[in-house]
Amino acid sequence: MTKLRLAIIGAGPAGIYAADNLLKAERKFDVSIDLFEKLPAPYGLVRYGVAPDHPRIKGIITALRDVLDRGDIRLFGNVEYGTDITLDDLREHYNAAIFATGAVRDAPLEIPGIDGPGSYGAAEYVSWYDGHPDVPRQWPLDTPSVAVVGNGNVALDVARMLAKHVEDLVPTEIPPNVHDGLAASQVTDVHIFGRRGPAQVKFTPLELRELGELRDVDMVLYDEDFDYDEASKQAVASNKQVMVIDRILQSWRKRDGVGAASRRLHLHFYAKPVEVKRDAAGRISGFVYERTRPDGQGGVVGTGELREVPIQGLYRAIGYFGTPLPGIPFDKRHGILPNREGQVLQKNSNDRVAGVYTTGWVKRGPVGLIGHTKSDAMETVRHLINDQASWWHPSHPEDAAIPALLAARGVQWTDLDGWHRLDAHEIALGEPHERARIKVVPRDVMVRVSRGE
Ligand code: NAP
Repeated sequence: MTKLRLAIIGAGPAGIYAADNLLKAERKFDVSIDLFEKLPAPYGLVRYGVAPDHPRIKGIITALRDVLDRGDIRLFGNVEYGTDITLDDLREHYNAAIFATGAVRDAPLEIPGIDGPGSYGAAEYVSWYDGHPDVPRQWPLDTPSVAVVGNGNVALDVARMLAKHVEDLVPTEIPPNVHDGLAASQVTDVHIFGRRGPAQVKFTPLELRELGELRDVDMVLYDEDFDYDEASKQAVASNKQVMVIDRILQSWRKRDGVGAASRRLHLHFYAKPVEVKRDAAGRISGFVYERTRPDGQGGVVGTGELREVPIQGLYRAIGYFGTPLPGIPFDKRHGILPNREGQVLQKNSNDRVAGVYTTGWVKRGPVGLIGHTKSDAMETVRHLINDQASWWHPSHPEDAAIPALLAARGVQWTDLDGWHRLDAHEIALGEPHERARIKVVPRDVMVRVSRGE
């Protein structure tokens, strides 16, 4: 065997880092990589998950672009695994496949009233404000008070993008429909609910501090949440991150001039979701939570005391979940592909699925920052290289076979040159407005611009 023909499914950071890692790895064979992406544009959650006002994180795109622009990776955008290309196709054309499809579904919150109008998953709202082509163009920000459930960085992104004034987002890449939706927003009060205490949050200091810097937004905290138990005091004293978070929260408690702003962010701790109340017409009218208290070990126990906060909309930001992939085993409980260090395993057994690998959030679950995906890719690629004996033996390994197959199926795929065209088009759209870019949202326009049609 002189060449590894590899298919990578998913052109987000996980897939691109895996390609980069393999191309740079010490190995005794040549490599050719085809990168398949469901969307017409690459970069996954960096383009469609990172908030538009986080240009520092969006800057990761520069490193990802350098990998794609090396010239030895073929990109097939607008190609959906399971529909446009199947596992049988991959076996016929490649020696192995790495699935790097991420985790973009919202984890469910199973409480009464959660299903119905006005209740959203964070991923839906994030996709809207990031101009994802497959979500509705309009977002109903037509009520004054909304709840955000969860105490992770996604909850803070969602809360910030609900409370921030649109004028302060104008310099970013938000598309016109998002600008107009935010400009029409009636939201004045965003209530963030965490089921544990301030010393047990999952968000990070930098992201928390940002909330306090929002123009014309007051931070509202409640004294009863800061009567720390021993375990919380210990956490503040021994963990630098918790210490900084505590310092930020305490500084907000002492702030002067609270009450003057036109919008408010309320931080409620020790609040375990119980029910979403709805009126006779089915509209959300309140969020019921059970007050919890520390259990002395970093967890909480219920107190039995129920409280209700009037709200008219709710966003759950309690974690993401992977999506099953046709033909590949799936661990429903954790929302990942069952795997051992990136080698995909048969369901309920330790046997490998030969030739099938995984990396990124669909491998390890939706935790960790984008940088963690690099070490993840390294582990997966190491196994792929060492597993040469169990690679597939494709009957059609020729480079021309995949474009011919997609063309025969009428798939309107986009390639790397096409992405450069779309990228340049978006940058040109931004130029007259002195903005870095304005995103193109409709899928058909993305495809047309990419294909130069
Ligand atoms: P996360 O960090 O795991 O936070 C999930 C939050 O939801 C936790 O506070 C958790 O509480 C809570 N939760 C889970 N189930 C719940 C339930 N049934 N009821 C009430 N609360 C519940 O997840 P995430 O916010 O989705 O973030 C995913 C990853 O992306 C993280 O690693 C995050 O740092 C990263 N990220 C980073 C940035 C950034 O750097 N700016 C932005 C976005 C995301 P418990 O702790 O009590 O379980």
